[in-house]
Amino acid sequence: MSKLGKYFSLEELTVTHENLENNPGPTELLKLKELVKNILDPLREMINEPIAVNSGFRTLAINKAIGRAQNPISQHTKGEAADIECFDNANMFQVIREHFQFDQLIWEKGNDKQPDWVHVSYKANGNRNQILKYKNGKYIQL
Ligand SMILES: [Zn+2]
Repeated sequence: MSKLGKYFSLEELTVTHENLENNPGPTELLKLKELVKNILDPLREMINEPIAVNSGFRTLAINKAIGRAQNPISQHTKGEAADIECFDNANMFQVIREHFQFDQLIWEKGNDKQPDWVHVSYKANGNRNQILKYKNGKYIQL
């Protein structure tokens, strides 16, 4: 297990169900470490429960294989984003919203009470603190 921070490993942040290699380059690896250091590790301590990473870094090939947007290029392919889940996703969404600097925070699918998962991204510079919610097939800004 190669650790990216206190609680998260490289294996967790590069998990994929596709039968393709998913190795970040040095730039993407640095960005993953920044994401862990600035959001995932402190978030884990704040909510005090395990956080599962459904998807972190994805190569362009994997991003394409799972049918995700090619334009704009997903922040997952840059090592800047993670899709995360815990016992109470809605609470985790609020904690991120209130306590962190982030680029994008997205309430993914689910309903008005709980998202199915939470997408969060972080950039070293120029974080937009943009908050979106997936509803009725499209993303709306909150
Ligand atoms: Zn995502």
